[in-house]
Amino acid sequence: MVEIKKRVANLKMFIDGEWKDSESLETRPVINPANGEVISYAPEGTVADARAAIFAARRAFEEGVWSGISAQERASYLFKIADKIEEYADELTQLETMDNGKPLREAGFDVGDAAACFRYYGGLITKPDGYTYHVADPMQAMVVREPVGVCGLIVPWNYPLLMSVWKIAPALAAGNTIVFKPSEVTPVTPKKLFEIFEEVGLPKGVANMVMGAGSVVGNEIASHPEIDMVSFTGGTKTGKHIMKTAADTMKKVSLELGGKSPNIIFADADFETAVDYALFGIYAGAGQVCSAGSRILVEESIYDQFVARFVERAKQIKVGPGNDPSTEMGPLISKEHLEKVLHYIELGKQEGASVACGGNRILSNGLDSGYFVEPTVFVDVKQEMRIVQEEIFGPVVVIQKFKDEEEAVKLANGTIYGLAGGVFTNDGAKGLRVIKKLKSGITWVNSYHPTYNEAPWGGYKQSGIGRSLGTFGLEEFQEIKQININLQVEPIGWFSN
Ligand code: NAD
Repeated sequence: MVEIKKRVANLKMFIDGEWKDSESLETRPVINPANGEVISYAPEGTVADARAAIFAARRAFEEGVWSGISAQERASYLFKIADKIEEYADELTQLETMDNGKPLREAGFDVGDAAACFRYYGGLITKPDGYTYHVADPMQAMVVREPVGVCGLIVPWNYPLLMSVWKIAPALAAGNTIVFKPSEVTPVTPKKLFEIFEEVGLPKGVANMVMGAGSVVGNEIASHPEIDMVSFTGGTKTGKHIMKTAADTMKKVSLELGGKSPNIIFADADFETAVDYALFGIYAGAGQVCSAGSRILVEESIYDQFVARFVERAKQIKVGPGNDPSTEMGPLISKEHLEKVLHYIELGKQEGASVACGGNRILSNGLDSGYFVEPTVFVDVKQEMRIVQEEIFGPVVVIQKFKDEEEAVKLANGTIYGLAGGVFTNDGAKGLRVIKKLKSGITWVNSYHPTYNEAPWGGYKQSGIGRSLGTFGLEEFQEIKQININLQVEPIGWFSN
């Protein structure tokens, strides 16, 4: 358990344009997962802090300091934010690696994507939208899009900066004001992002950040009547809780949740390409990626050959601290998460699966104070095993065998999740045929993981509701209003007197 203590924090929250400690003065240590050291102390926000942020966001929204300015003016702020993210790219990259543990190379990509996301939404919001309808004279009907109002944004720890930006950029572009909660584990780069908001001069109360526990600050955001929408990224269990909580005030909800995504390799695929992407699919981010290809399904005629090559390459992955430029895979986020992943590895063995490689915490080469786990492969798995069905969120993959297209699709769709999926084949028609049968929101053919600001991101089934990114991601943060105008202003005469 993390120790919460009274003291002035190194990090601060941003409420109504001011940097604040928690009103309780309680703090939580922020830990570097590569060595277990305390990087800083974050304010442990309270319900009162969350309410202060909610009221500031409400006031700013109603005063129209943000929704009332032109889309072009809002866009100019977003472009300035993008420029600043690029200006501070090195600092943001270092901070992200220190806080989350991911290798510098991965953190650098996230920072670049974050700037591009602000630029994309700055551009998008100035484009024409809305509709007009040809209804009977003398009426004119049209539809306009409006901001939802005050949006509560709650994000996880696996992409501390990028997940924040995927919500904040479209929410602000649309004219909303926001109450944002980073993960209590990774508040460092979100704090730097809010410094940028201050630097570019966002009006007071438009963007507010409250740090602290999900059960306290997150719960207040999900339940408070002055929050019009809650946009959440995190685990499916938490997402269900938020949806139930938000139902009381009938908030709009958008949920980006967990996954157990299939990566299907047919015998006719380019073998080395398939192995290479399959490794990237599961071990990028040390498997702590919602869309991770954590179930590899391989056609039986190449199964043994595939497992042998995959294991050979998995063993060569250089695991180490993210700030070492030679590191290819970093640590898990925390001691608690390390224990969860190791527990799943034990569970897999108890269930009767075989470990083809890995399976242990790494305690050698000076990594014993961090939370490192070997790239792990399970074979001899059955579809009903928990290691096949549940999201482990670590560098642990199961490799299953299938005999034909039909069985591949059945296994692929056989979990509660439906976030992502990949297919490797040199038969274009087969690739598309299988993709169309996958119950997944994000799919790739002969590739895995690339993500685009332009294209919608989100899941089927229990992987979520709604979409991030692209035009769909903007629409999540907009209400739709029908406007009907009478062009002949005279009584209708429906009643005789
Ligand atoms: P989590 O659900 O534990 O926490 C996510 C956020 O919710 C945190 O900020 C947390 O403080 C907050 N929270 C926790 N309990 C809450 C409550 N009762 N009310 C309101 N807020 C609450 O998830 P995590 O461990 O931080 O992140 C890992 C999960 O996120 C994985 O399941 C992963 O698949 C998912 N994820 C999904 C996507 C996607 O796009 N679908 C992207 C990234 C991560």
